[in-house]
Parts: sequence; C-alpha cells; structure tokens
Amino acid sequence: RSNAEKFEFQAEVSRLMDIIINSLYSNKDIFLRELISNASDALDKIRFLSLTDKEVLGEGDNTKLDIQIKLDKEKKTLSIRDRGIGMTKEDLIRNLGTIAKSGTSAFVEKMQTSGDLNLIGQFGVGFYSVYLVADYVEVISKHNDDKQYVWESKADGAFAISEDTWNEPLGRGTEIRLHLKEEAGEYLEESKLKELVKRYSEFINFPIYIWASKEVDVEVPADEDDSSDEDDSAEGSPKEESEDDDVDDEKKPKTKTVKETTYEWELLNDVKAIWLRNPKEVTDEEYTKFYRALAKDFSDEKPLSWSHFTAEGDVEFKAVLFVPPKAPHDLYESYYNANKSNLKLYVRRVFISDEFNELLPKYLNFLLGLVDSDTLPLNVSREMLQQHSSLKTIKKKLIRKALDMIRRIADEDPDESTDKEKKEDTSSDVDEKKGQYAKFWNEFGKSIKLGIIEDATNRNRLAKLLRFESRAISPLSLVNNLADTWNSYSTKSEGKLTSLDQYISRMKAGQKDIFYITGTNKEQLEKSPFLERLKKKNFEVIFFTDPVDEYLMQYLMDYEDKKFQNVSKEGLKLGKDAQDKELKESFKDLTKWWKNALSKDNVDDVKISNRLDNTPCVVVTSKFGWSANMERIMQSQTL
Ligand code: ADP
Ligand code: MG
Repeated sequence: RSNAEKFEFQAEVSRLMDIIINSLYSNKDIFLRELISNASDALDKIRFLSLTDKEVLGEGDNTKLDIQIKLDKEKKTLSIRDRGIGMTKEDLIRNLGTIAKSGTSAFVEKMQTSGDLNLIGQFGVGFYSVYLVADYVEVISKHNDDKQYVWESKADGAFAISEDTWNEPLGRGTEIRLHLKEEAGEYLEESKLKELVKRYSEFINFPIYIWASKEVDVEVPADEDDSSDEDDSAEGSPKEESEDDDVDDEKKPKTKTVKETTYEWELLNDVKAIWLRNPKEVTDEEYTKFYRALAKDFSDEKPLSWSHFTAEGDVEFKAVLFVPPKAPHDLYESYYNANKSNLKLYVRRVFISDEFNELLPKYLNFLLGLVDSDTLPLNVSREMLQQHSSLKTIKKKLIRKALDMIRRIADEDPDESTDKEKKEDTSSDVDEKKGQYAKFWNEFGKSIKLGIIEDATNRNRLAKLLRFESRAISPLSLVNNLADTWNSYSTKSEGKLTSLDQYISRMKAGQKDIFYITGTNKEQLEKSPFLERLKKKNFEVIFFTDPVDEYLMQYLMDYEDKKFQNVSKEGLKLGKDAQDKELKESFKDLTKWWKNALSKDNVDDVKISNRLDNTPCVVVTSKFGWSANMERIMQSQTL
C-alpha cells in the first residue's frame, strides 16, 4: 500500500518468528488461546479505565465488552475481534515489533532445541504464535486516542503500518485477521474453533462469541417444477395466508420445507467466575484447569496445592491461591527490586491489576492466584487503592492461608510422616501426594528461608516448613552399640531431608540446644573436627550448606524453646564432664602462654574444650562473630 510505513522487527522477534513460522510443532492450537487471552487483557484494561471515566467506553456497541470470532471459508481468513482498549500507532510499533520481557532470548534458545512452544504465553510473546497457522496477519486497531491503523506482516523480517481507510471502522478495539496457511484448513471449521475455545478459554471473564452457521427449516411455496433454488426467501410465507382459510383446500398453495443456512452470534463460554462458586462444588480438575489458565502453563503438570476461601468480617474478599509445580525461571532475579506479584486483584468482579505488590510479601511471590475484594473502593486510582487500609488485613490473611496451604502439602505427603503407626494407605490419592513436599522444597525452599529472614511475625510458622540434611544416629548403631565408629554414624537415609520437629523428636535426654554446622557441602562437613565429640556422643547435627543459611541463622534464634547452637562457635555445651574443671586448672599455664604467643589481634581466647576427640585443637568463632563459612561467603561476594 502506498501510505504504508515500513518497520523492521527487533532481531530477537525476527528470530522468534522464523522459528515459529517454520515450526513443525504439532500443537498449533495454542495460537487461539493466546489471541483470546490478549483480547481479554485489552478488555480488562478498558473496563478498569471506565471505573474512573465512564466516557472511555463510548456508546452503543462500543460499550459491549466481548470477544468475537469470525471465519471466512472463501477468503481463508479467521478473525478475532475485541472491544478492548485498542492500540495507537505507537502501541502497534512497540507491542508488535519488540520484546520487552526479560528471559525471552533464553526462551528462544530453548525453543530452538526443544521445539516446545507450550509456554510461549509466559514469555510475553504469545502474539507471534499466530504464525503457526497463518502466513500473513493483519492487526486492525482503534484506540480512543488515535485513528484506526492496520499493522501487517508476512513474517519476513518486516511489518508495515498504515492508516486504515478501507476497513469498516471498529469503533474501539482490535481485530486480528489471520490469513491461514494452506495446511491450517482445520481452523476454518466452526466445530474445531468451538472445541478450542471450550478447552482453553473456559476462564475468560468476557463473553466469547462465534459467528456460527445454523441450518434452519424454512417453508417455501412448492413450485410445480420443484425448482425453488432461486426463491430462498421466506417472505410472505404461504402459511400465514392459509391460516384464516383452511376450508378451501384447492386454493391453498402447496408448501415444502427446505434447509437454509443462517448466521448468528453463538456464546461459547460461561462467564461465572470460579472463585465465586462454593469450593465444595468445584472439582480438582476444574482447579487444575483454572491454574493452567492463570499461569499460562499448559503443560501436564498439576499445581502442588491450592486454597480457595472467603474472608468475612470488616474486610471481605474471596481468594484462590496456588502453589505452582515449578518455580518460574526468573523467580529470584533482582528479587528486591522487581515487581513480580502473581496475584491478580479484582474488586467486585472487575479486574484491577496484576502488579499489586501490597497483597503478598516478596518471599511469597512464587504463589499464583487472585483476590476479589468487596471492601475496596472501585472508583479510585490504583495509587489510592495501594494506600487503602484494608490491604493490610487482606495481606495478613493471605499469608496465613498461604502458609497453611504449604504446610498441608507436607501433612498429606506420606514421605513426610514420621508416625510409624500410621496405616499404609494405598489409595491413588495418597500416591499422588507422595514426594510432593520434597518437590516443593526443591523448587521453593529458598523462598521459605527468605521468609524467615524477612517476616518476623511468621518466623515460627515458616521454621516449621524448613527442611535440611543432618548427621543423625542411625537406629542400627544404637542397637549394635557401634556409635563411636565412623560408619555407623550415617546421614539419615541418604538424601532424605528432615524437619526441625523431627530433629526435636530425636533429641537426646538432657540435650538443650539444636546443633548445626554450616559449610559448602555435606561431604566437607562430615569431616569437620567440630563434629568429633558430637559424633562420639551421638548428637544429631543439622548441615546447612546453602549460602543463604548463614543469613537465615542470624534471624532464627530459637525454635520451640530450643536455642540454635552453631557447633563451630563458642558456647557448645554437651553436658557436664566431671574432669572439665580439673583439666582447666591443670592446663591454665599452657592456655595463658598460648594466648600471649598468638597475641590479642589474632585470637580472643585460648580454652580447654570438651568438643574434640582426635584433633588436638580447633579454631572456634566467637558467639556473635561470623562463622568461618560466613567469612567465606562475604569474601566471595566482595571479590
Ligand atoms: P503479552 O500478552 O504477554 O504481553 P503478547 O505477545 O501476547 O504478550 O502481546 C504483546 C502485546 O501486544 C500485549 O502486551 C499488548 O500490549 C499488545 N496486544 C496484543 N493483542 C492485543 C489486543 N487484542 N488489544 C490490545 N493490545 C494487544
Ligand atoms: Mg498475550
């Protein structure tokens, strides 16, 4: 077109499109859910704006917030149209030509090797999946602040934008017109599209219509020669005429019934929001599907857990929370700066925002879900909402529910149970829960640790969720009384993690503190001289090997009235030894001399200790000083 302005795609986008257009990926269906999801986002945006400014919706058909699907078998086009916010010319250039979201190149890399496009929506590039089924795409869009434009591209590295002077005016919103590839003919079948919408877009909160054909019976006058082809109108139906006069049978014209195709908008979805339903009536399957829609995760994995509840009282809201099966690739990326909440906020059914950081603390950012509040005001700006006093109450309740939900994963996991009496339950339900907490811990354990550091109020609740390796006494060693040999003192069933509650249940009579040691890995720690005496005396010691553990232990002082004792630090008490005092006396001169010899700058003190067995001496850290492991971590950070 003569007035078209040409643009080149950002290199990254071009590469992505090349891969998509040449993809042999079999699940091409995904393009439709991406387009519907974009339409729904655009509708959410205009509805949000209309809360504070009614004018933006316009009048007539423009006020109908819906999505329409239409196909044209002759032209081989499929179009998806919404009355959402639309795009200005600038928007078209920016949104459909560049990629803003981080991690996209990692995704492109991955796709090149795996060819799996299923997660495309999570990477902010879902739109480009249209090129799975189309070789030419037009995007016609009208935003309130601009004229109507057409964006078009054949995925050949460039796109063009022209002011739209030939299509019908949209009023407001966007139409995506796909010119389908030869081999994508199946998407010209209504039944296929209906099935896809039902499967993928069940939880879209706007009505989705399809321009559906319908065979209807119409009665037409029966001509003598029986060729009624040219007369396909039902006008002046002979039936009406005959109604008032059925006496004269001879005069009554004969009629016959023929099939005629008519078109009408057919509604495809039920827009009743799942969170408004009674949790008892929602099936597991429905929750799983809802999770997939929220997460844009259409892999086969199920969420690890969910919680659906209604809060009543001063602040009323409904919420659904999910623990995803996997951590997103960028969960801890710029943890303290990024705006990464995955909770959608609704106020009385109206979507407000999914960038609302006030709903959950950062350490719970791995959760997914939504909150629908009846208490928050609708017609104020996002900034004012952010200040609203009831948010504090909502947040508090959400944290409680979230931690309960996580704890439930452990409670229902047979691998977690220490109770030997518990009957073996072999139902499939239990099978499904087996190993789920280890999975959770593997993906999100770090978040729980960050929670202990950041959230003093819930520290104890979070500490319950902690898991770690430990050096424990094997039951065998007790039976055979081989406790002082190396071998018998094995790590509790290889690779299996334990909890603080389990540690406490195994504490020896008279043991007051919870013992732990920090270091880079289990193998190194097992050789530590700090453990000699503890091993000999059969004390269990927790191994903390994650760098964050050092910070964690600066915040976690005690648990269930037990203090934590770093065994490489001063103050280790293993019960009284009768000779302790005598030994101290008799070596007084030696320790004094030694301390002077090393000088004050190097050591604080030299002491007789009962913590060793074979090793003659060991350097211990002072109670409030950094452990050797912490020194190592700090050093590696500053270098
Ligand atoms: P994402 O939806 O994750 O942002 P997409 O590739 O699906 O990524 O879409 C890119 C952007 O294009 C969207 O963020 C939005 O700004 C814009 N966009 C796409 N479809 C529409 C639409 N129907 N109406 C308005 N804007 C749209
Ligand atoms: Mg999208």
